[in-house]
Amino acid sequence: RLKTIVPDMVIDYKLPIVTPLGENSFRGKGGLPLDEACIFAKELEACGVDTLHVAQANHTGNMGDTIPAMGTQPYGFMVSYSKKIKELVSIPVSVVGRIVTPEAAEAVITNGSADIIGLGRSLLTDPDFANKCADGHCCNVRTCMMCNKGCTDNIQNRAFLSCVLNAENGYEGSRQITPAASTKNIAIIGAGIAGLEAARVSALRGHHVTIFEKSLQIGGQLLIASVPPRKEEMMRSINYYTNVLPELDVTFRLGQEFTSQDYNSFDEVIVATGANNAIIPVPGKDLPTVASAWDVLAKKEIVFGNVSVIGGGLVGVETAEYLASRGCKVTIIEMMDQIAKEESNTILPTLMRELEHYNVQIVTSAKLSEIKDDSVVVEKTIDDNT
Ligand code: SF4
Repeated sequence: RLKTIVPDMVIDYKLPIVTPLGENSFRGKGGLPLDEACIFAKELEACGVDTLHVAQANHTGNMGDTIPAMGTQPYGFMVSYSKKIKELVSIPVSVVGRIVTPEAAEAVITNGSADIIGLGRSLLTDPDFANKCADGHCCNVRTCMMCNKGCTDNIQNRAFLSCVLNAENGYEGSRQITPAASTKNIAIIGAGIAGLEAARVSALRGHHVTIFEKSLQIGGQLLIASVPPRKEEMMRSINYYTNVLPELDVTFRLGQEFTSQDYNSFDEVIVATGANNAIIPVPGKDLPTVASAWDVLAKKEIVFGNVSVIGGGLVGVETAEYLASRGCKVTIIEMMDQIAKEESNTILPTLMRELEHYNVQIVTSAKLSEIKDDSVVVEKTIDDNT
């Protein structure tokens, strides 16, 4: 009996469960099917284990199984399993897996599906998650958007584990938001995520902040980045600022471009206007049938029918999936030998499955040389018979 060996130690046992993945196949190899997990949970309790942690089984070589990226698994995908285990034992049961918001966590506890919520990525995004909830400021929690970019990808690449939404993450000892030596009037151009974060940090340091945004909405390019399938979860990162900025000394000038007349009213100006799309200098680039991915995702341009997407980087591939999901017959043309090179491999299998599902044609090692009225001309950079 475990407890007789370590009577003063709390023993939490991670109970990894393999879950169904289509017909006759399972996600995760290093765990138990639910029926065996139910028997084993009771054995563990009898052995003196203090708490059980219900989680997706892993060791499949695919981190996306246990740390699913946005849109690749339902929210709270292990909750029904923890509920089942909890019904069988009297020791506390915790659960993890895409429980993103304080409200969702509260619901899991309230409906008796678990006693404790396990948070992983959420604590990288906001280490004060629990403290804010305890203080009654749940809406000020910065919630993880499940991009897996700063955390899971970096773990896999043996790089520094970080969070793309929390610049202090990993630097808590050296990066602290401290009061500024003198208070300044600061203008920020652009209400995308970089501008909003600059506003938050500047205001916390005691500065008077004014954000100029030429559109009538905050969010910047996340408003279009969140349009393709599965990407809408990115908007959680913007929701955080709509909650915290009104409590700070930040003035919004929406629908107003920053001009040279504004310049002298401020001590500092921070330019946070984001990236631009590149225009490919080929004959036919100005034809009316040519549209930028930016305009397509912003719904300023409507395209339909046979569509060639030039460029198989993330923007191109996501735009291709978006258009294919809306009924377009899509071909991706990519100069490199592979598409979506920068994509997280926790997302890539889902992305490629969807492209196949929509019958998206992929032409790699092909350089665009001309756009015609009803076709595109490409030069193959290597002969691969496509
Ligand atoms: S990098 Fe992305 S997935 Fe990872 S903790 Fe931050 S927001 Fe969440």
